Amino acid sequence: MTAHPHPAPNNEWDGRFWQAIAHGRLELQRCAECGTFRHPPGPVCARCGATSSEWVESAGTGEVWSYTVIHPPTLPAFRERTPYGAVVIRLDEGVFMVSNLVDTPVEQLATGVRVTVAISEVDDGVYLPLFREG
Ligand code: ZN
Repeated sequence: MTAHPHPAPNNEWDGRFWQAIAHGRLELQRCAECGTFRHPPGPVCARCGATSSEWVESAGTGEVWSYTVIHPPTLPAFRERTPYGAVVIRLDEGVFMVSNLVDTPVEQLATGVRVTVAISEVDDGVYLPLFREG
């Protein structure tokens, strides 16, 4: 089996996000001025323009906002798992995150389903914030 692609943070904010995931925590960046959550993490608040921010642990709950089913051809690392669902999760903090659901067959994918984060080791030392129903 081809190795799973690794997250490749390319700035300090991405690095901070993935560091928390590797320690089993889903943390979100929040503007220290107006309290708006932002994801993907970055240097400036899109709402108020402030550059100060803090990191807080997410409740880890949300809903399936959208989804699609992936069929071949795809990257070699994902070929054996097709067909699989790619979902857009709207976390209760208001930010969106692309992920996968664990334990949900593709024919049962639906929008509006409540989900909880399930940080999973998908390859040796590779942790991703996946989600499961409930
Ligand atoms: Zn702000």
